[in-house]
Amino acid sequence: MGHTIPIWAYDLRWWGTGDYMSVTVDACVKAMEALAPPELASAWDNSGLQIGSRAAIVERIMVTLTVTENAVERAVTDQADLIVAHHPLIFKPLKAVDTDLPVGRAIQKLLSHRIAVYACHTNLDRAQFGLNYWLAESIGLRNHRILEPDLNQEHGLGRIGSLDPISLADLAAKLGKMWRTQVRYVGDPQALCSKIAVCGGSGSDLIHAAWSKHADVLITGDVKYHAALDAAALGLAVIDAGHYATESIMITKVAAYLRTKLPTVTVTELWEGEDPFRY
Ligand SMILES: [Zn+2]
Repeated sequence: MGHTIPIWAYDLRWWGTGDYMSVTVDACVKAMEALAPPELASAWDNSGLQIGSRAAIVERIMVTLTVTENAVERAVTDQADLIVAHHPLIFKPLKAVDTDLPVGRAIQKLLSHRIAVYACHTNLDRAQFGLNYWLAESIGLRNHRILEPDLNQEHGLGRIGSLDPISLADLAAKLGKMWRTQVRYVGDPQALCSKIAVCGGSGSDLIHAAWSKHADVLITGDVKYHAALDAAALGLAVIDAGHYATESIMITKVAAYLRTKLPTVTVTELWEGEDPFRY
């Protein structure tokens, strides 16, 4: 029967924007919740729909890591109806929308252009096939599992798996090349690493979990001086590749996921202007 349908009809975008085809913000939220259930978020987190109405129609989504003013500017230019980001735009409770400050300016611009914002933060970190899963896959870890499982064992933070033995210095250099960033590390440069723990973003809290599961190295970002000393004292190597490099994989992966889930919506990715550090 497929032969009777003209080829253009397979592309649902040609069917117009009648109500039965319209995608709402609500549908986008539900799609994201299927990937990263909101109940997985940390208590201190503020994920979810932050700006906009669930009833609004979405034709274009822009996926990015952080809702910076530059990202808002790009969303306006790209005529995005929804920004899906990892980091919440509104994180600490706002006491005022002060449009002389960056967050207030961003909110004003988003509202005036009717652009919604959805954040999936620690729930995406903990999701079974979320950020840390993608990170482990991108590094090429084999047989990786959750580093610090939640009580239900199905979700949790970080991943741990194996690689062919590689020196700490070579692994750090390889990651720096892959992520086009400077990496720094703690540990003996010649030490061979084969059991590898990873956690995107600020994963220093997993130093103990990585050590107790006999990891040779923990790959993460935002490692502070005292955390580095703690790891060194335990004999655990740590590679700090920065917050941006260890999380930016979510941009492509979330965009690809949304394209599959919502084939009639145009999904763009915003990469540039995110990592503020220069070396
Ligand atoms: Zn982050």
